[in-house]
Amino acid sequence: MSAPQIQAPRGTYDVLAQQASARVALEARARSILESAGYERIETPTFEATELFARGVGSSTDIVRKEMFSFEDAGGRALTLRPEGTAPVCRAFVEHGMHKRSKPVKLWYLSSFFRHERAQKGRYRQFWQVGAEALGSDDPAVDAESIALASSLLAEMGVRAVRLRLSSLGSPETRGAYREELKAHLRAHEDSLAPEVRERIEDNPLRAFDSADPATRSVMESAPKLLDRLDPDDGAHFAEVRALLTEARVDYEVDPTLVRGLDYYMRTVFEFTSDALGAQSGVGGGGRYDALVQELGGPPTPGMGWACGIERMLLAGEPPVAAPAPVELFVALEHHDEVTRRAAFGLLGEARRAGLAAQMELAGRSLKRQLSHADALGARYVVIVEQQQTVLKDMQAGQQTSLAADAVVHAVLRGQHAL
Ligand code: AMP
Repeated sequence: MSAPQIQAPRGTYDVLAQQASARVALEARARSILESAGYERIETPTFEATELFARGVGSSTDIVRKEMFSFEDAGGRALTLRPEGTAPVCRAFVEHGMHKRSKPVKLWYLSSFFRHERAQKGRYRQFWQVGAEALGSDDPAVDAESIALASSLLAEMGVRAVRLRLSSLGSPETRGAYREELKAHLRAHEDSLAPEVRERIEDNPLRAFDSADPATRSVMESAPKLLDRLDPDDGAHFAEVRALLTEARVDYEVDPTLVRGLDYYMRTVFEFTSDALGAQSGVGGGGRYDALVQELGGPPTPGMGWACGIERMLLAGEPPVAAPAPVELFVALEHHDEVTRRAAFGLLGEARRAGLAAQMELAGRSLKRQLSHADALGARYVVIVEQQQTVLKDMQAGQQTSLAADAVVHAVLRGQHAL
């Protein structure tokens, strides 16, 4: 009787070799794009105090209301698996006094995130994001640069049919007044609204713009738009962000109904979607969060950032193919006895210390099978360790020579000329 099989939790998946190499390539491109623009890598813990998200992300957001994996640890502390990256980065910014550094402080990450969502293609309970945050400046050029970098990443990843939607949420005051105006509009048309929209008039009226319900949509067409209510400063900021994006040749559409799932955004917000994806069409998004650092106990510090979903980029893009790691030397054993194994293992260590990509026979194969295995791995050289001698085979030239064990690594390093 075999033991019952244990499977990965619902909504999670294993990254196997083939996908892993596409991810490595994606990470290399993200690093090159972001570090060339002055972003530095940051990694924050997988779990944080629950309060960080309850305060930072906003208690009326879906994330905080129902999607967090929260638990109490053995010491009775309320902890949460991070559902997003911005609040943790801002927490780290405050905790490490990064406001003393020259501004803007630019940070990027590639990490896994956790949300208790209904799992489907492109939507998982553990997923990865690459993200970038710039803290300490409200210059519209920070917004435009940040968006342009996300756009370059998507382009480099070959993500197809990308659209960029852009809007401004203005200041919290403008948004507060606008919310009241919108609530009044929704209440006046309450009978035509879908029940889930009606239910959330009080805590999240902006969500009504996301509804797919036809009657709700027609109510929303005549609803007041936040973009028409921006105060002059925010209006000018938004106009400048748009002008700079045009200057950078980044195409966008202004979408006054764009709402983001997180409460901390103000002024610029944006979202990249790909028509190559199904229902879960968002590939990335972000915006400005000028009050978040202060809300988390830091000095007043404006911020701007985004995150792009790794799985969605891979689904909608042409994942770069990374070549498999080369095998420069395969150490084969004529016989599987202790003396030969120890000699082979010594040789393997010597080869690795010399910087060679080396592997050794580990599965008890016959010599003939070891040679075909080495061939399948694409090994450049095979050394056959025998009791009395060592034989080096050049797999490309099809030649072999017998030599002293301590001359093998040197011969491989010198290449074919040694044979
Ligand atoms: P958000 O923080 O919700 O704006 O998400 C930013 C990006 O992360 C989205 O555009 C998606 O590409 C990706 N993403 C968000 N949630 C999930 C999920 N549950 N599974 C996979 N990717 C996700």
